[in-house]
Amino acid sequence: MCAVVGVFNVENAGKIAYFSLFSMQHRGQEASGISSSDGNRLHTIKDRGLVTSIFSEDKLKTLKGNMAIGHNRYSTAGDDSILDAQPVFARYDLGEMSIVHNGNFTNREEVRNQLIKRGAIFQTFMDTENLIHLIAKSDEDKLLDRIIDGLKKMEGAYSLVISGKKKMFVARDPYGFRPLSLAKLNDGYVVASETCAFDLIGAEYIRDIKPGELLIFEKGEKEPTSMQILPEKSYKCIFEYIYFARPDSDIFEKNVYEAREKMGMELAKELPVDADMVVPVPDSGVASALGYSKESKIPFELGIVRNHYVGRTFIEPTQEIRNLKVKLKLSPIKKFIRDKKLVVIDDSIVRGTTSKQIVKMLRDAGAKEVHMRISSPPTVNPCFYGVDTPDSEELISNKMSNDELCSYIGADSLAYLSIGGLLRSIGKESDNNSYCKACFDGKYL
Ligand code: AMP
Repeated sequence: MCAVVGVFNVENAGKIAYFSLFSMQHRGQEASGISSSDGNRLHTIKDRGLVTSIFSEDKLKTLKGNMAIGHNRYSTAGDDSILDAQPVFARYDLGEMSIVHNGNFTNREEVRNQLIKRGAIFQTFMDTENLIHLIAKSDEDKLLDRIIDGLKKMEGAYSLVISGKKKMFVARDPYGFRPLSLAKLNDGYVVASETCAFDLIGAEYIRDIKPGELLIFEKGEKEPTSMQILPEKSYKCIFEYIYFARPDSDIFEKNVYEAREKMGMELAKELPVDADMVVPVPDSGVASALGYSKESKIPFELGIVRNHYVGRTFIEPTQEIRNLKVKLKLSPIKKFIRDKKLVVIDDSIVRGTTSKQIVKMLRDAGAKEVHMRISSPPTVNPCFYGVDTPDSEELISNKMSNDELCSYIGADSLAYLSIGGLLRSIGKESDNNSYCKACFDGKYL
């Protein structure tokens, strides 16, 4: 998860980074941070919480300079201390640097242990800190060569932005697991995890950063210098289309809403059901439910309403209410649902908690039949490339057969989109090997 942004040669770069992070808040709500550079030094603000709660107008004024990088952190099971918020800032023999990172380095333990043996002291549990150490300890003279040196030692998923005092470096791992796009803004440039950031700040999308590519932004240079530091391959995260990204973003050069709508259409072709109404689980199931309705000709209704104000800071409910936690967020429109046969669409089932509570809620509201249709295949494997999927034992599709899970969640029927259907929704089935679907098929690198 997580979002990264980099702004180069743009007035009030800190503010531009702030708005970009705001538009990508869905990618991480635990912590946020921005480092700006005025050419002489880096200024960093980071804290836990939402973007709007961390940065006030006064704080943004202290983020001086026309270069800035930023990060939204997604909550994981790990340490949620402020130390684990990004950017990761360091002073070292060449000066100052700040790094923001989306993805996971898969060889982090190995590299960390080697570094610790050589005397490195770590402040955080973040894999990103490995790279800081590799850069600081590298024998190369220039920051550029040190970054290349460091990246060649790290494996796994990374979309990275690194700021020195005068230059900005942008890198994407050779498989392109996580998205990263480039846009033009006035005389400068912006890179961001999702193109929805460009739409908000008025930047013009140019292209995606290539897998294995490193971009160097330097004052006085009209265009960034591109270097292919590792051979370009492709193993892009398919889950970006299913759940993470905002529907108005183009991810890996394809619009997310369109992909989700097609997933719904494929779902209707593969798994038709006789029903009165197609109802999405908001917001994650809306686009696919529209697709399902279009294809099946069964009317679409927003039969469940979402309360958008349930945040992380919500006071922990009592045990009695906790059992109905989903009700705090979702509420059925009883009048529409009563005595109806429903096809309910959601994007995924992870631990099974949401689906079970939704089915109960709809039955309590008087639904005659509830048929769950999921616009992705069963999630049966954890992710090592930056998605917060729980361990295999916690994934309900690992613990139960489809029939068992159907009766566990209390539905009349339960069915998932096939991997073939998912690939057809995004492009062609022949694209099979260019997307990482390890959460569904277990094929890690
Ligand atoms: P669960 O209740 O554990 O089965 O979670 C399923 C719900 O979580 C679905 O409604 C998804 O939209 C959402 N979801 C799927 N993947 C993730 C993720 N990695 N982080 C947070 N929510 C997710």
